[in-house]
Amino acid sequence: MSKSRKLGISTLAAVLIAVIITALVVGSAVYFLTPRGSTEEYPFTCPYCGGKFPNEDALNQHIWNDHPILISGGLPLTGSLAKNAEKIKMAYEDWAEYVNEHGGILGRRVVLKILDTEGDITLGTEIAEKAITVDHCDFLLPWYEGHVGRAVMGVAESHHMLYTGMGGHNASFHQGYWYVASAPPLMGEWWAAGLSDLILSLPEEKRPTKAFIMSARLTIFEACGKSLYEELDKAGIPYTEEWYDLPLTNADPLILSAMDYGADFLILNGLLPDGTLAVQAADRLGYKPRWLWQSVGSPDPEWVAILGDLAEGTITGSAWVPGREEELLPYYRNDLIWEIWTEKHADEYGEEVLLYYGLGWCWMTTLELGIKGAGNFSQEAVRNWLHTNIITNPAGNITLNEFGYPTKPINYILQWQKIDGEWKLKTVWPPEVANAEVKVGD
Ligand SMILES: [Zn+2]
Repeated sequence: MSKSRKLGISTLAAVLIAVIITALVVGSAVYFLTPRGSTEEYPFTCPYCGGKFPNEDALNQHIWNDHPILISGGLPLTGSLAKNAEKIKMAYEDWAEYVNEHGGILGRRVVLKILDTEGDITLGTEIAEKAITVDHCDFLLPWYEGHVGRAVMGVAESHHMLYTGMGGHNASFHQGYWYVASAPPLMGEWWAAGLSDLILSLPEEKRPTKAFIMSARLTIFEACGKSLYEELDKAGIPYTEEWYDLPLTNADPLILSAMDYGADFLILNGLLPDGTLAVQAADRLGYKPRWLWQSVGSPDPEWVAILGDLAEGTITGSAWVPGREEELLPYYRNDLIWEIWTEKHADEYGEEVLLYYGLGWCWMTTLELGIKGAGNFSQEAVRNWLHTNIITNPAGNITLNEFGYPTKPINYILQWQKIDGEWKLKTVWPPEVANAEVKVGD
């Protein structure tokens, strides 16, 4: 009796021990095999995909690898605007490299996708549409060419995506869109802003007395024209205008009209090839206006390369100031733009930072500041930050109005001056950033 009871108790004890051991083995196996995400040990959650990570470093590494910021869109890499677009692309790529070397934006690296719009509105809007609906880009590439940009603004708006970069002059900002933040914009209506103040700041004998405007038949020059008429009116300078079709093959009749009118201010409201043709015609015909304005293309060193001493004194308006270190604007990042240009592009393209390279940096800086300021990647948040803060841009310290363009016209008046045998593109207006006095011919 007592023996069998003893046996019964020891069997029960053995079973109990076996159960306990099994429980321990299974329990620890379950413990070690359970995915960390479901336990306290994997407390870091990726905000983009919900993945779980044991520590912050692992999460950050995952975000860097798997969740880049895709900025996608198009530039006119072929066609008549290709030369400028190429410089913008260089700036975008250099900007992305710089940003990625410095921790990305809010911990995410930047990836660019840039397709060729060929400067075509249909192709450009298709590229924008696909960037949004197929690539699911985080942001649209800051747009460049005004005529395509104007249409792309509508595509962006319909998808609640932010449109940055250039606009297509004043009217493009008044299409009733909300998702627009353009700093600096393409605004022909501001092309000559400040010219009247510059002229009126001079003693009477240096001011022009009569202006002749020769305008190329293109939308941009209609917009620039409005700015020129307004500034000439403000300065009290009478003017007359003649229009021509592109390409211009002979500028002599236009120059003869300017001479007949007795203009001492020749305003070339056109592109670089027509402008150089007109200046050469003026020289040949013995016409020497004291003031010379070229609307587009003259900041390019090509202007002085073609014209030599005839380029002296050419003035123009610009939303950013190209040139060498000492000529650049005293605003955020121009020192960096100079440094990177010198290191990467000066050998091939010359020492002066080119205009569209600088503008490319301006547009990407605007987008970057907006994202950093918002602290997240929401289109609405970035748009709102850009609309309610000072944008410390290489082009100036900019505030936007409700339409998404700067509250104050951005325009720097630049002049080619030969100083000690060297060509310099100097800023002659406004006074707070001018680095030279305007030179007026005899
Ligand atoms: Zn993730």
